[in-house]
Amino acid sequence: MNKSIYMDHAATTYVKPEVMEEMLPYFTTYFGNPSSIYTLARETKKAIDIGRDKVAKAINADSSEIFFTSGGSEADNWAIKGIASAYKKKGNHIITTVIEHHAVLHTCEYLAKNGFDITYLPVDEYGFINIKDLENAITDKTILVSVMFANNEIGTIEPIKEIGALCRSKKILFHTDAVQAVGHIPVDVKEMNIDLLSLAGHKFYGPKGIGALYIRKGIKIENLIHGGGQERGKRAGTENVASVVGIGKALELAVTNMEENNKKLVYLRDKLMNGLLKVPYTRLNGPIGEKRLPGNSNICFRFVEGESILLMLDAKGIAASSGSACTSGSLDPSHVLLAIGLIHEIAHGSLRLTIGDETTEEEVDFVLETVPNVIKRLRDMSPLYDDFLKKGEK
Ligand SMILES: *Cc1c(COP(=O)(O)O)cnc(C)c1O
Repeated sequence: MNKSIYMDHAATTYVKPEVMEEMLPYFTTYFGNPSSIYTLARETKKAIDIGRDKVAKAINADSSEIFFTSGGSEADNWAIKGIASAYKKKGNHIITTVIEHHAVLHTCEYLAKNGFDITYLPVDEYGFINIKDLENAITDKTILVSVMFANNEIGTIEPIKEIGALCRSKKILFHTDAVQAVGHIPVDVKEMNIDLLSLAGHKFYGPKGIGALYIRKGIKIENLIHGGGQERGKRAGTENVASVVGIGKALELAVTNMEENNKKLVYLRDKLMNGLLKVPYTRLNGPIGEKRLPGNSNICFRFVEGESILLMLDAKGIAASSGSACTSGSLDPSHVLLAIGLIHEIAHGSLRLTIGDETTEEEVDFVLETVPNVIKRLRDMSPLYDDFLKKGEK
């Protein structure tokens, strides 16, 4: 097989042709500035309204509660810094978790340097937070709880509805980074008592560089970009019209076919996961069953380096990801794998394969043939494995 196999959908996705097709006229034919008053501008204004309606509908929000951003990171930054700033008179305490995306973690670290007090909730061996820990962490200074909807590395889906109910009962704002969830699993901001939610187009077959922050009606938040009156004065700048059209269309497609798609994804994902776990000295990271994202598999192979697995898979045309060292430019393995209790040596051997809508059973079969050979070759060269064979478990 020479074709390249893409199993890194949690990192980003391609843009679906139907999405691309709807976007194209907004680069050429309908290029008017939505803020202008002539007919040409009315077309783009209308397109933005429709895109906003589609995003709102997909998460059961009102269109007036959707604010477009440049992506997931910007939405996370805005939610946390914007609430911190608007509510700093009320309190300086924020609660989040140890397994958040860096867009949340680094924002919290920034705030910690500026007088805020951050509590990082631990997670159990599968990546779940404990509601009791959250309840115990709340003080009269707590202004915001930020817990991700689903983890990008190990696929854990957090108890969002319970968290939302608790926060609402304590009158504390609840933000969720739902970048891995929206367009993949059901998300309902009303039913789940979510006050702020981040999403990004390129994680569900929409374009890169566009995302949104849902801000529940009535919530105070510091404006993000000062300038013209776009996004109701909260985030100025001429709208990214084509991308708004694209994110709306992509999300509409994603929620329409969700249940059907997920059945197929779960079947292929389980085949992939169970096949890889047949390799000796492996472990699954993250939960099994309904509390795992349908497309996510994450497995540690002992005695090898994730980075080396990726390079050898790349040579076979397979694109994957790892929570290991050099990919991220740091020597520490993934903070998520450490948080679920793995020691460095084991965490370094992780392989994340995230499948998508066009993944085929043939591709899964090819990966299942290829990975065990790659692991065998790497172990044959591994001093750790050699040591283990000689001395056994220490
Ligand atoms: C991808 C991702 C982000 C960042 O989104 P960008 O659009 O790349 O800025 C944030 N959080 C999670 C959970 C993600 O998977």
